[in-house]
Amino acid sequence: MSEPTADSGILGGDFHVHSTFSDDARSSLAENVTAAAAAGLHTVRLVDHVRQSTAWVPEYLAAVAALEAPDGLTVLTGVEAKILNTEGELDIPALPAGIDRILIADHQFPTAAGPVGPTEIIERISAGLSPTDALDDCIAALIAAMERYPGNQLAHCFSILPKVGLSEDDLSREHLEAWALTAARTDTYVEVNEKWGCPGPRAIAALRAAGATHVASTDSHDAATVGSYSRVRELLLNAEATP
Ligand SMILES: [Zn+2]
Ligand SMILES: [Zn+2]
Repeated sequence: MSEPTADSGILGGDFHVHSTFSDDARSSLAENVTAAAAAGLHTVRLVDHVRQSTAWVPEYLAAVAALEAPDGLTVLTGVEAKILNTEGELDIPALPAGIDRILIADHQFPTAAGPVGPTEIIERISAGLSPTDALDDCIAALIAAMERYPGNQLAHCFSILPKVGLSEDDLSREHLEAWALTAARTDTYVEVNEKWGCPGPRAIAALRAAGATHVASTDSHDAATVGSYSRVRELLLNAEATP
């Protein structure tokens, strides 16, 4: 199988790489940058998890500023925060200047009343919540977050759906078009995520049709996997074959 010609540049970037500023990651910022250069990447985004109470963002920015970026590698910054509700509010502290993009993440299911865990959503669906209503909430929250926080990036978008027993196949064409057009209009990058294998080919095709920017990411928690793609490569190839 040949390389995806239109996307070979995309696979030269890794827009979601965690360091030890996140509790569950193993590698330092410097180790990730060294790994990105060794993998021949042109771009790496260093990103860690925040919530409203997070206080280390200035320290993180100082540590990134002190890194020596190898020639040919662009080093970008970011913080990853979960969507709270269908108003598109994020679980995020006041940010100092220097964060290039916020990664807007579906870590919990966003509802009008706030974020709900996957088990609770599964119970609500079996108790009569219509999957269509749940999907409407999910899309509404993503669109509201992009509008409230323009110029950022959607992290592993739709990874929440399999966790609640739904899938991207359950999203209508109208859902995907509205989502993709909002990404284009708000300068939101949408990452195609290696760890979670999402979003899928239909969604990527909708992004392309809308003129939205998609990027590749590993969501690496260890420098050994920075810039290493197999699922993303396949998703991009399948998207090319999707009408
Ligand atoms: Zn995440
Ligand atoms: Zn992440």
